[in-house]
Amino acid sequence: MLQIHQLHKSYPMGDSSLHVLKGIDLSVNQGEMVAIMGSSGSGKSTLLNIIGMLDEADSGEYILDGLTIKNLTEKKAAVYRNKFLGFIFQSFNLINYKTALENVALPLYYQGMKRKERLELAMFHLGKVGLADWSHHLPKELSGGQKQRVAIARALAANPKLLLADEPTGALDTNTSHEIMAFIQQLNDEGKTILMVTHEEDIANMCKRIVRLRDGVIIEDTKVNQVRAEQYV
Ligand code: ATP
Ligand code: MG
Repeated sequence: MLQIHQLHKSYPMGDSSLHVLKGIDLSVNQGEMVAIMGSSGSGKSTLLNIIGMLDEADSGEYILDGLTIKNLTEKKAAVYRNKFLGFIFQSFNLINYKTALENVALPLYYQGMKRKERLELAMFHLGKVGLADWSHHLPKELSGGQKQRVAIARALAANPKLLLADEPTGALDTNTSHEIMAFIQQLNDEGKTILMVTHEEDIANMCKRIVRLRDGVIIEDTKVNQVRAEQYV
């Protein structure tokens, strides 16, 4: 699914620079569910953003689904993003003046799908996350867990190969986190490849593999016995 070789990334800082990723090697196969861990500032989001083509590395190689991702124009990156990737964020990132249904339908608009088809497919995905009855509500009328479920439905609408999540449970209480993790595990059971950043050990143990960053390198990459989230829901 993806191969990364000797990835480096620095950010300019005054007249010097901050070297954040210092030679990352990482391979993820189809069907995996990987947690990226590490202390605050260790480069987790930086790595996820490069994988998500929201940012580019300074050097190294990144291959996604057989395609070398390098020097892409923003237009081309957007095409690849829409085709391959779904995103979930800690702060949900829903559009606040659009209903749940319209939010989920938005990625399908960018794929050029007709309105009727878009809304039908969006409704199907909202149903899958248990929110069919909430389709006409605005984000402000939804709880945090419901908002994240809308965001999951949106991330899945265009049937991405890879789902990227940056602290998807970071803004949720423990019960709601487990509920969301149960959904994400179910998606993985159905075959979706998932890469998620978390700083919570119990959430990471609900993945199948943990990759730990420190000082810009991977210091640990281990398979774990997946703890099932539904037992806590
Ligand atoms: P957290 O757990 O707090 O989310 P993180 O592991 O996701 O941390 P990153 O967001 O990847 O860390 O940031 C790594 C380092 O790079 C930090 O020191 C951060 O201040 C710096 N950084 C991140 N984005 C930028 C940017 N756009 N410009 C400059 N510095 C940045
Ligand atoms: Mg981060």
